[in-house]
Amino acid sequence: MDFYHDINTNLEDLKRQSLYKQEHCLQSPQSTTITTSAQTMINMCANNYLGFANHPQLLQTAQQALTDYGYGMASVRFICGTHAVHQQLEQALATFLQQQDAILYSSCFDANTGLFETILDARDAIISDELNHASIIDGVRLCKAKRLRYRNNDMDDLRSKLKSCQDARYRLIVSDGVFSMDGSLAQVANICTLAKEYNALTMIDDSHAVGVIGATGAGTCEGLPVDIITGTLGKALGGAMGGYVAARQELIAMLRQKSRPYLFSNSLAPVVVATSIQALKLLQQTPELRTNLMHKTTYLRHGLRQLGFEVLGDQHPIVPVLVRQATIAQQMASLLHKQGVYAVGFFYPVVPKDMARVRLQVSAAHSDAELEQVLEIFAHVGKQLQVIKRT
Ligand SMILES: *Cc1c(COP(=O)(O)O)cnc(C)c1O
Repeated sequence: MDFYHDINTNLEDLKRQSLYKQEHCLQSPQSTTITTSAQTMINMCANNYLGFANHPQLLQTAQQALTDYGYGMASVRFICGTHAVHQQLEQALATFLQQQDAILYSSCFDANTGLFETILDARDAIISDELNHASIIDGVRLCKAKRLRYRNNDMDDLRSKLKSCQDARYRLIVSDGVFSMDGSLAQVANICTLAKEYNALTMIDDSHAVGVIGATGAGTCEGLPVDIITGTLGKALGGAMGGYVAARQELIAMLRQKSRPYLFSNSLAPVVVATSIQALKLLQQTPELRTNLMHKTTYLRHGLRQLGFEVLGDQHPIVPVLVRQATIAQQMASLLHKQGVYAVGFFYPVVPKDMARVRLQVSAAHSDAELEQVLEIFAHVGKQLQVIKRT
């Protein structure tokens, strides 16, 4: 019985099962190409959907914000950690998401873990999509409400689960807006219809959708009567860090009183907050970025299908290329790296058995030439691994 010996054994097990995550150390800022100690590659796996992670205008805002507001808040929000910019960003997010108010967290992970236990208890029921993000699963675990799980995006199953908890005081349907392993969208309109029919509330985590989906980029909930929206500042909205909940005013007021990650964790750095305000403005001033992103996404999806690849999902810049076998996904990712495309393979237990895939993510900042090159390299690697036919 040796504690550290056991940890080492478990680490060895992860390596043997190819589940050990190796971190690639970047030597360049986040962009459409990235440089590691070994090489420069086209980056096809960042959540940098709008190219905001290193946008010149946002860098300028960030530099000015350091001068104006300093670096750290050194406090939680309710002691001396609330600056005017925090309230401005909360208002800007609420307005953009068509909600009454919003509250900032250090991450969307924190937002999701601080939400459910604050607003529901053992008399209530949470009906959750089986593919929901780990932070939702953890948040639901912290809450005493009864838990029901419905099959991914299956509205019949959701209906039957709703029927089975009509005796609960409140029902809350919970879903990701975008299922990030599949690049597919939740049926938010249908969820809202069922919620009305079975007297339930709705919560959507739109982390992969805000800035990307919807006529104005407000996400999968745009124009729909969703009660609670959570999301991140760590993806399309600049990619630094931070999360939020947007909802009715009294719900947000209660979160400020009781939500544990909000009360007991440091306030977001004002440089991140001020820059996020600018990111939100930039997003609204440049709708062509989203149109561009969708054109590029369609180009890549179409090109991969033409080459004979099986591509999952729809209408979202997450483009998963299904190769089925875990070993093929790993080999493909490694050959792609060698030829200059950075993409990651996903396999069981992250996705179902025999559904292994290499996931690509398009950015509005990718040039046409870069995506053309990605297709060329995919053609080459696909033939090499016999995922597609040689012609
Ligand atoms: C990325 C993501 C999160 C985590 O966001 P952070 O702000 O990085 O904690 C939560 N939920 C979903 C659906 C996500 O895609």
